[in-house]
Amino acid sequence: MMISVIIAGFKGKMGSTALEMVKGDSELRLVALLDPFAKEKEYDGVPVFTNKEDLQGLAADVWVDFTTPQVAYDNTRFALENGFAPVVGTTGFTQEQIKDLQDLSVRKELGGLIAPNFAIGAILLMEFAAKASKYFPDLEIIELHHDKKKDAPSGTAVKTAELIRQIRQPKQQGAADESETLAGARGAEFSGFRIHSVRLPGLVAHQEVIFGAAGEGLTLRHDSYDRSSFMSGVNLGIKEVVKRDRMVYGLEHLL
Ligand code: NAP
Repeated sequence: MMISVIIAGFKGKMGSTALEMVKGDSELRLVALLDPFAKEKEYDGVPVFTNKEDLQGLAADVWVDFTTPQVAYDNTRFALENGFAPVVGTTGFTQEQIKDLQDLSVRKELGGLIAPNFAIGAILLMEFAAKASKYFPDLEIIELHHDKKKDAPSGTAVKTAELIRQIRQPKQQGAADESETLAGARGAEFSGFRIHSVRLPGLVAHQEVIFGAAGEGLTLRHDSYDRSSFMSGVNLGIKEVVKRDRMVYGLEHLL
């Protein structure tokens, strides 16, 4: 079956990489592209829209979203309401927003995916980190991204922290009388451990989880050097959501 795809945010770094991936797969067909500031009416024969409302009634199976944290929730709601199964890579969703969208997908009996990270190595890093936190409850997450990234911490760091919280014995790390002489020095607090966000030109998407225990340490690290690292995950997401009847949060649920 040919799967017809809309890409929202097709001019961005991720959206344009996804566009090339979809174009290169004979089982996928691009039917519409969305970007609020696009000047062209079509791109490579595919119609370009500047307003999502104009996509109502379009015959399409999947809505791929690589936009911005400000619009991704409304976009995903819109996709579900119009029968397009969302594959969302945009980050910055709150827990409540994810729950709302999952509930809506169940009501609409539509599959969908919100994936903070589409790279298989990052999925494995999250799984290994959660597992290690059972034995190493003292840990810090350091995520490193390019300096154009709009949200912090990264969606991957938040998802990693949530998975760790499910397994790690709760504890407050650091000295009880610790104080910051420079605000923010210890990073963001999450359930007793810390998340640090580094932003530098030249980086793509990287994450370390550092564990410490008496006399030993363990560091897990994943690097996306290139946005192509995300594309097999996006491709899998597109092909899986059309077979499902509810939205999932995390690519691991479709593997
Ligand atoms: P980017 O280059 O800034 O691309 C975002 C694009 O969306 C821009 O071209 C932007 O246009 C456009 N846009 C803004 N509002 C829109 C709307 N209402 N409808 C359609 N398009 C809209 O950012 P990026 O690096 O591609 O990242 C996009 C998102 O994906 C971020 O949230 C990022 O964290 C996430 N991400 C996810 C993964 C993953 O594996 N899940 C990996 C990398 C990045 P203007 O520039 O004209 O505003």
